[in-house]
Amino acid sequence: MHAVRNIRLCTKDCLCLFVCPTGATDTETGQIDASKCLDGCRLCVDACPSHAIFLIPKNYTPQQKKSEKTKQALKELAKSKAEQERLALDIAKETTDPTERQLARALARSLRILSEDLHRESGFMLPQDEATRAFLQEQLQKNSNSDDFPKEAVLRLLQLL
Ligand code: SF4
Ligand code: SF4
Repeated sequence: MHAVRNIRLCTKDCLCLFVCPTGATDTETGQIDASKCLDGCRLCVDACPSHAIFLIPKNYTPQQKKSEKTKQALKELAKSKAEQERLALDIAKETTDPTERQLARALARSLRILSEDLHRESGFMLPQDEATRAFLQEQLQKNSNSDDFPKEAVLRLLQLL
């Protein structure tokens, strides 16, 4: 196991910095250096008042196998959520009513989270899954000439994977 930090929860009071025996935690960069972490000694986890640190396994367990039919259904559902998110964002952009704008933004955010879960379930968001690499390569091939496509980010991700 090793420690990771959820920087959204971190309030930067630096307790983790003081308790870590190896100096693995860095509050400036928000990173915890996994190579210095002592097999998840938990001192930082227990010290953090914001519950921002947790332990994860060094090696992920293999993802549960899913049939092609199930994966396809999950992908279709994720695609429809992405379209709904786009519609919600359009409403947020066009409406002049502040309450409606707030609601549309909240809906878009919620749809994004649903979509991310669906992608994860269909095997595209776990770095250890081969499908992730195949998906990124496919997107690169299909969209590399499009101005909207984050080509550099995808190339970097492929390199990291
Ligand atoms: S102890 Fe928790 S809240 Fe404080 S800096 Fe570390 S991670 Fe952030
Ligand atoms: S689990 Fe222990 S060694 Fe690892 S970062 Fe936290 S305090 Fe440091």
